[in-house]
Amino acid sequence: MQIHNNLRALRLRRATLALSLSFGALLGSSSSSWAQTPALKKARAAMPPQVGVYRMKIGDFNVTALSDGTIPISLHNLLTNVKPGQVTHTLEHDVLKDPVETSVNAYLIEAGSRLILVDTGSGELYGPTLGYLPNSLHAAGVRPEQITDVLITHIHTDHSGGLMNYQALAFPNAAIHIAKREVEFWLNPQNIAKFPTRKKLFAEARAKVAPYIKAGKVKTFSGDVQLFPGISTLAAYGHTAGHTVYVLESKGQKMQFWGDMMHAASLQFPDPDVTIVFDTDSRMAAATRKKYMVDAAKQGYWVAFDHVAFPGVGHIRTEGKGYRWIPINYSDDGSGQ
Ligand SMILES: [Zn+2]
Repeated sequence: MQIHNNLRALRLRRATLALSLSFGALLGSSSSSWAQTPALKKARAAMPPQVGVYRMKIGDFNVTALSDGTIPISLHNLLTNVKPGQVTHTLEHDVLKDPVETSVNAYLIEAGSRLILVDTGSGELYGPTLGYLPNSLHAAGVRPEQITDVLITHIHTDHSGGLMNYQALAFPNAAIHIAKREVEFWLNPQNIAKFPTRKKLFAEARAKVAPYIKAGKVKTFSGDVQLFPGISTLAAYGHTAGHTVYVLESKGQKMQFWGDMMHAASLQFPDPDVTIVFDTDSRMAAATRKKYMVDAAKQGYWVAFDHVAFPGVGHIRTEGKGYRWIPINYSDDGSGQ
């Protein structure tokens, strides 16, 4: 019972901390380096993370979902375009409490001689419940210097924060692929004045991406292009200016990596019009989500999300006026069968 109470106290403390950090990011306030503090070390020692690794095969490619940890987010405070009572009713229905513990996932693709990472987690910037991607990568048997390519869905700290390990390139031998318009948006100092509430995100974008630009390692692309054999990009703008979907195809099987097209599965699958304050253009974000949902439900390919409960992989089906998420059925061989 004592252990139970301790865990509960820790979770509440984590929730309060994570929330303040979330709002800090949104409001542009400074959150000093949590990764250095005794509180972080204590929290991690008290509750080590799950081993966040889940392997599966897509044709000739091995795909491994990697967890960066979880972060509680308040859907009451952060969701927009919701109907009165919608959040309360849905959370009750799904036996969830606000703030909702939310996964931060990234994905490793083994494609021949390439080792490709889709998004990088948050690095040291969100602690103490996030920043576990290096542990997950280690558990998958991969060293950061072995990564040949990093595909960034968009430049938000929980996706691009892991690019740097403090002042060092976390993936020193990798090319970093990001949509041109995404880089132009976040690294243009003039945009900081246009989006004053995102000041901290702009600073973090610069801290994490600029060193790779300086080292000549960032490769940009525009729109829908083929990056490597079997791996291509699709424009999915709205959540951010250059938010990108990555598509993996091999031997008739397909998986799409949808980044931040979903933050609150309970609400946004049945009602894709629901948006979140982190969207740069919420109207466009909702329209893009609906367009992709229609396609995924019709075609039946695998979809992988950065913020759907780990491993974040599953299928999308139509249900009523909205959609239903069908998470992969756990299986030792990752086939879902
Ligand atoms: Zn985002």
